[in-house]
Amino acid sequence: MGDGTVIGFPGRSGRGGISRVAVIGAGLSGLACAERLAGRGLDVTVFDKGRAPGGRMATRRTDAEDATLRFDHGAQYFTARDPRFRSRVEDWVARGAAAPWAGRIVRIGAGGIEESPGERFVGTPGMTAPARLLAESVAPRSGVRVAEVVPGSDGWRLRDEAGRDLGSYDRVAVAVPSPQAVPLLAEAPDLASAAAEAVMAGCWSVLARFPQPLGLDYDGAFVTDSPLSWIACDSSKPGRDAGRGETWVLHGSPAWSQRHIEDDPAGVIDRLTAAFRDLAGVGPVEAGYLAAHRWRFSIPIQGLDQDCLYDPERGLGACGDWCLGGRVEGAFLSGLALADRILADRVLAEGSPV
Ligand SMILES: Cc1cc2nc3c(=O)[nH]c(=O)nc-3n(C[C@H](O)[C@H](O)[C@H](O)COP(=O)(O)OP(=O)(O)OC[C@H]3O[C@@H](n4cnc5c(N)ncnc54)[C@H](O)[C@@H]3O)c2cc1C
Repeated sequence: MGDGTVIGFPGRSGRGGISRVAVIGAGLSGLACAERLAGRGLDVTVFDKGRAPGGRMATRRTDAEDATLRFDHGAQYFTARDPRFRSRVEDWVARGAAAPWAGRIVRIGAGGIEESPGERFVGTPGMTAPARLLAESVAPRSGVRVAEVVPGSDGWRLRDEAGRDLGSYDRVAVAVPSPQAVPLLAEAPDLASAAAEAVMAGCWSVLARFPQPLGLDYDGAFVTDSPLSWIACDSSKPGRDAGRGETWVLHGSPAWSQRHIEDDPAGVIDRLTAAFRDLAGVGPVEAGYLAAHRWRFSIPIQGLDQDCLYDPERGLGACGDWCLGGRVEGAFLSGLALADRILADRVLAEGSPV
């Protein structure tokens, strides 16, 4: 436990004031939480181990001879049903960071092809764009992996993997996938065991660029009875450029991905592109660019169905898609919920207006 001068937990049972908050994770949930807290005058520091904000709203960029290719290898699109998220999405659309995706989406299974209509949005020119906008107001510290959250004499103390001190905070919001949240919540065992109940599936994502259009009459498909669960023509999304060709993203199903999670990327590419060729009837067209990305934690297959986790006695909380909704929209709303819990706590602690 660090310096040995601990008097209690930094939450309600410890010192009273709330001004410094650490948010661990700059995915959509952490950014939504951080932005709301910063907007209410709190001193918020956001840490993320990645190179850029966005988490699983991710885009890989690569240059081809005739275009800059962008592949959304994580989240494919998002819905906007809740009015709070909807109004934020409208703002992103107005600012050019998102747009509706009018692609034809179908379901392909043993029974044939069925339409899968619905309103879907994507980030433009890639899925990271909305997160980048959110990040502008909170300037996350990228490339910092938080390894420990421990009580100190002046609030929660954070340390990185090398044991370096990352500062002291009155409240900490853990906004990372549930398996990664468990160790960070170790000082709040009830929260850690709640987080351990969520189950997240792995996913292999294959990125392929074909030098000419494949001529398929749909832009995305949910797939059953296959190693694949989803295929999408990324270049059919607004704001993408695939030059003369087409870019496709192929997702292994949760069951297939889990079975092959330790496989070599090259073998995964072979198996999933072969499944795509069979499914879509694509002839021997050579892909010009091929890559695979492994998500060890992609989407929750068992979430908590609570908007967030918060322990006011300790001043520790957690948010993310595994708490609520299992998707981008749920992650955003979960981040707002945790911010509101911290703001309500601040009122109790200090009598400050929310
Ligand atoms: C393959 C795939 C397909 C998907 N498809 C869709 C879809 O079509 N529609 C949809 O709505 N959703 C989809 N999702 C889910 C969606 O991406 C997530 O629900 C959402 O982005 C989760 O946001 P989050 O903030 O909860 O977590 P994340 O986006 O995972 O953010 C967590 C952040 O925490 C950081 N982090 C982790 N540990 C640490 C640490 N110790 N220290 C510092 N930083 C740390 C990570 O780098 C990451 O940036 C998909 C996800 C994947 C992977």
